[in-house]
Amino acid sequence: METPPAPHPAPGPEAAAPIPIYPLSLRLDGRRVLVVGGGPVALRRVAGLRAAGAQVVVVAPRLTPALADLAARGLITARQREYQPGDLDGAWLALACTDRPRVNEAVAADAERQHIWCARADDAAASAAWVPAVGRTGPVTVAVNAGRDPRRAAELRDRLVDTVDAEGRLADKAAEPAAGGQQRTGRVSIVGGGPGDPGLITVTGLRRLRAADVVVTDRLAPLELLEDLAPGVRVVDAAKVPGGPAMRQDHINRALVEHARAGRAVVRLKGGDPFVFGRGREEVEACLAAGVPVEVVPGITSAISVPAAAGIPVTHRGVSQGFCVLAGHVRPGDSRSSVDWAALARSGMTLVLLMAVDHLAAIAGTLISAGLPAATAGAVVSDGWTRQQRVVAAPLAELADAVKLAGLTNPAVVVIGDVAQLTAGDLRVPGAPPSSGAPSSAGTGGIPGVRGGPAASGGAGGEASGGGTGGEASSGGAAPAEQVPAPAPGATVASPSTHARPARRVLVLGGARSGKSAAAEGMLAGDGPVDYVATGTPPGSGDAEWDARVAEHQRRRPPHWRTVETMALAEVLAAPATAPVLVDCLTTWLARVMDDCRAWDGERDATRALAARIDEILGGWRLTRRHVIAVSSEIGSGVVPGTASGRRFRDELGQLNARIAADSDEVWLCTAGIARRLR
Ligand code: SAH
Repeated sequence: METPPAPHPAPGPEAAAPIPIYPLSLRLDGRRVLVVGGGPVALRRVAGLRAAGAQVVVVAPRLTPALADLAARGLITARQREYQPGDLDGAWLALACTDRPRVNEAVAADAERQHIWCARADDAAASAAWVPAVGRTGPVTVAVNAGRDPRRAAELRDRLVDTVDAEGRLADKAAEPAAGGQQRTGRVSIVGGGPGDPGLITVTGLRRLRAADVVVTDRLAPLELLEDLAPGVRVVDAAKVPGGPAMRQDHINRALVEHARAGRAVVRLKGGDPFVFGRGREEVEACLAAGVPVEVVPGITSAISVPAAAGIPVTHRGVSQGFCVLAGHVRPGDSRSSVDWAALARSGMTLVLLMAVDHLAAIAGTLISAGLPAATAGAVVSDGWTRQQRVVAAPLAELADAVKLAGLTNPAVVVIGDVAQLTAGDLRVPGAPPSSGAPSSAGTGGIPGVRGGPAASGGAGGEASGGGTGGEASSGGAAPAEQVPAPAPGATVASPSTHARPARRVLVLGGARSGKSAAAEGMLAGDGPVDYVATGTPPGSGDAEWDARVAEHQRRRPPHWRTVETMALAEVLAAPATAPVLVDCLTTWLARVMDDCRAWDGERDATRALAARIDEILGGWRLTRRHVIAVSSEIGSGVVPGTASGRRFRDELGQLNARIAADSDEVWLCTAGIARRLR
């Protein structure tokens, strides 16, 4: 007797072989697809569905920010509520992607009744449809199901895409005309290879390279990529070594055009991005003029990524609102220079200089004469994203000497501006082998991977080896570094001189009525004008008792002090003004920020928003050049507030105090009107 097959046979030793799935490719263009769930799984599915042109409707009480953004831009329809059975009406396909099996089950059951295919993300066995791992290359779409092992499916998919690519190249070669036959049309791809590390080329760039017949390469292109080229591929070395041999640009242009005219796929491989000091446009024009098809595949420029290799962000919230990339290959004042250095000195932007090592002393001198403080942080990163990478950090006035002492040479990127203080040792080079032996921190504490300043060498000059402990700890004012992974093996960070901070950061803690504000005011009493930053609710809010307190504080302050009512502490700390700052106090600031972020009930997004605001002022505190005193409430009294929001506030403030204290030059504690210095 024949047994009818169960709809979802359970695997087991005696079970019959499961019934195979029936693969099908769908044209979803313009068809409605219902996605239930608003989390990361839904986000991935929605991306694929949108690429296929589906009209996506998402039902979920909460959406990830990216899904909410797609909805706000009208690219998907969102129903922000629980799933209801009628939601399936009009849909061709449903994807149940919530993290609640009950909901997924209900969607699947309703879909079954309505004869709509439904894929459940949580239970493949109970799912009527499966979503395969999908890869695309040219006209080919690869879709893989590997039983219930999605990871294996993804791996197989990647391998298949690679195979299809390789076959495409073979087919192209096979189609190459016999001598005298019809010519294939050649083309030129101007490809940005990224800086140094072969992993930093784009996916499209790598595809072009693999399909190339001829590669015309630069010195700074990631040359390791050439190793993997097929044996018959012709490599033309068009390196331009500064001061050394060079292939003339018109010869390069001619080579590109001639190879393409001979029907070859030509890749012009460049370091970084072809359109950043790369003469990419000149080559495009040469091809256009010759009627040769040409395209540009952008790359990761060294201007941004090489500083990043040393932990330096070219912008950083509260520190730098912009950056300017310029070439330093001609000296300021040279008739060929079109750079307005004085304007740059005033710009407040991070300056990123390429090809600038030779003229660094002249450039720094010009910027300083134009008003950029000599103590402005600077850093130079050479051979970024390679195992030879080295970093030197020093104040602008000393940067050129430091670079010379350390023996850094081209290629190197120079960064000038407060962000350069964030050198944090080298971030791991992606292609480098794992560190052998104990990793070492570039920081002062010697704890791998934990915050610390760039290593100060013992005395002036020299450099700390990335493999050692980096000499003496720098005293007091060394530039702080961010929390980053341990440096890559062989990488070096050198900071030839301790970077003296022109002003001090002081934290004054105390309980209620402990005299903390008065103590802080006393510290600045003889100092001329002071920017007094009031963070509490401004007077006039209808609370007479509060207004009286504010008035009492105001009477106590000298008349020449400026009172600034603001919550934007990061901006105050980043301002170039020279007057000392008194922040009174962090407690009221935090309470109001928690109001702003609606963070009192611990809701996840609100907590994240609060953390971002706190990180922002900590960044400002760490990098400020102003003399600043912050008053805050000491809450370590052991009293446990009676509400969850009270406890949350107490914990947030305790953590804020600890983080500010960690980056302060002085910490004071006031009790009963007596101020004692803790550090
Ligand atoms: N098109 C390239 C820049 C070409 S100009 C790009 O977008 O990156 C050459 C200059 O780039 C060098 O003098 C140096 O300043 C910088 N440079 C390129 N690669 C570098 C690397 N790996 N490390 C440090 N600097 C690099």
